[in-house]
Amino acid sequence: MDTQKVRCAECRTEISVPSTYTHGDHVKCPTCGTRHKVVRSGETVRVVLADIGPLKDALHANEMQQSRLEAELRHARASFGIGVNGIGLGVAYAIWQVGFKEGQIGMPLLWEVVGVAILSGVLLELANYFFLAKRKAMSRLSGEIEEIEAERRSLEQKIREASRV
Ligand SMILES: [Zn+2]
Repeated sequence: MDTQKVRCAECRTEISVPSTYTHGDHVKCPTCGTRHKVVRSGETVRVVLADIGPLKDALHANEMQQSRLEAELRHARASFGIGVNGIGLGVAYAIWQVGFKEGQIGMPLLWEVVGVAILSGVLLELANYFFLAKRKAMSRLSGEIEEIEAERRSLEQKIREASRV
């Protein structure tokens, strides 16, 4: 008997489809038990998932995940400027305070200048660190959103294919 090999849509195991199986017949994967429908077009045979319930569930989970990631990204973007500005204000305040106190208390000017330089340096380093950390988080989130979108497109295509049979 003439059989053709196709791959399970779920686990990629080879499934034999005998020629007696016509378009729309169900065939079960021997490994994972996933049910498929046979798709014949001319000489070629393919299988699509028989039950699109799990695909729809996956699509729903995918959409939830995407809106969660997008909210996280919006939040990261919104707090991005605030942190950098806040540290800038801190540096300005420190410089102003030292300048103001210098006349009043009369501590050795050199030490104050050194102190401010170190403080500003530390604060700028921190700003830089948070800036980079946040940028990294933002590009990670964007990357994850892209992956989610690719996954959604492939799920939608599987659902369309499976619904056509
Ligand atoms: Zn399988």
